[in-house]
Amino acid sequence: MSNAKAVVPGEELGVEEEALPAQGVYVDKKGFLRALVVGTAVMDKLKKKVMVRPANKRELGLRPGTLVEAIVVSMSDDIAVLNIYNANGVPVDFSGILHVTQVSTEYVKTMWDVLRPGDIVRAKVINSAIPYQVTIKDPGLGVIAAKCSVCGGILYKAGDKLQCTSCGGVESRRIGVGYVYVLR
Ligand SMILES: [Zn+2]
Repeated sequence: MSNAKAVVPGEELGVEEEALPAQGVYVDKKGFLRALVVGTAVMDKLKKKVMVRPANKRELGLRPGTLVEAIVVSMSDDIAVLNIYNANGVPVDFSGILHVTQVSTEYVKTMWDVLRPGDIVRAKVINSAIPYQVTIKDPGLGVIAAKCSVCGGILYKAGDKLQCTSCGGVESRRIGVGYVYVLR
């Protein structure tokens, strides 16, 4: 196989013994590596891995129920615009929308009470079109990393609040399970 080659779904890319399947590649029952999407097959000879870069990112689209990680790009009282960068552990690049009614099972007056630009959230996709709509209503979903909106310092989790160790400010978020910075 040449170093980069245009492929269609199902096209043979080699056998399992030669290389490991990476993004956009699957192994069939006979042990052949095959393209999952339309795109360019790239062989990494050093790491013995083969991947297919999708020609159209929609080919690797997300489905309702997919768990994603995203960064809050911008927001208003009603919606937050997200960049989804990880889906089920795989790097992706999609736009996402979080509506204020999808933040909590309880009434949320404004998005600013629960989220801020720059926050990292764990969310769940609820549609199958771009831009993806997500929810953080489910138990465990929500903000997993955040910075102080006043000074930019890291916000540490202290009980059900987040506290800035730089300026001492206390902020509220919809905090998800697995929040990265925890005061002990
Ligand atoms: Zn601060």
